[in-house]
Amino acid sequence: MESSWFTTDQIDKDTFVISEYRHWEETHCYLLTGKERGLLIDTGLGISDIYGEVMRLTDKPVTAAVTHTHWDHIGGLKYFPDFYCHMAEQEWISGKFPLPVEKVRQMVSDCDKLPEGFRADDYDIFQGKPTKLLEDYEEIDLGRRKITVLHTPGHSPGHMCFWEKERGYLFTGDLVYQGTLYADYPSTDPQAYLASLEKIAVLPVERIFPGHHSLDIRPELMVRMRDELRKIDKSGRLKHGSGLFEYGDWAVRL
Ligand SMILES: [Zn+2]
Ligand SMILES: [Zn+2]
Repeated sequence: MESSWFTTDQIDKDTFVISEYRHWEETHCYLLTGKERGLLIDTGLGISDIYGEVMRLTDKPVTAAVTHTHWDHIGGLKYFPDFYCHMAEQEWISGKFPLPVEKVRQMVSDCDKLPEGFRADDYDIFQGKPTKLLEDYEEIDLGRRKITVLHTPGHSPGHMCFWEKERGYLFTGDLVYQGTLYADYPSTDPQAYLASLEKIAVLPVERIFPGHHSLDIRPELMVRMRDELRKIDKSGRLKHGSGLFEYGDWAVRL
């Protein structure tokens, strides 16, 4: 299913992925619906109306939850007054995001073809007040469908993965995707990154759903990432400034 900006695919009868392939970040958002309500995991760049896209897929009320509060995941929060983020990033979402808006506007406009009527110069970083701050191992109940919050810092201090044990689904945000992982800028934490990979790599994951790029990835990717980060740690280089480490289908910048 393709609308002008988003590409939507169905994962199973009540799970959807909404992608922004026309932007180089290839951001993915996921809609999970239960008996009572829906959960939108991440909200994308915010340069086209993701709310309209979500409403085509469900008639239930939808809460948004962001894996972390980087601009490319919170853009659509403006359409969702009911949204959750992790307590460690509450400040970022209320005006203290450590990146100037000009920089973000540049990244926004680096794009195949922006939606009609959209002007990158008018783009603003979302700011707002979450209806709830999430904590590690908290459960989000959608009505006969339960999602567990896993605090997985490293990429950012309040990064979370969302775990649906019953289906073996792990939504990994920017902690695990195929491509270059970032643990080099000041708000990242390479040691925490490894600890988070240790935490998720032992889960009985059937399918991984990343925040960016290829959807065709298997759970063994996060195990390989954990193993390589362990090796980097053993060599004493799991810290900022160690440079780029490449492994074929993925890399990590420290
Ligand atoms: Zn990010
Ligand atoms: Zn991202």
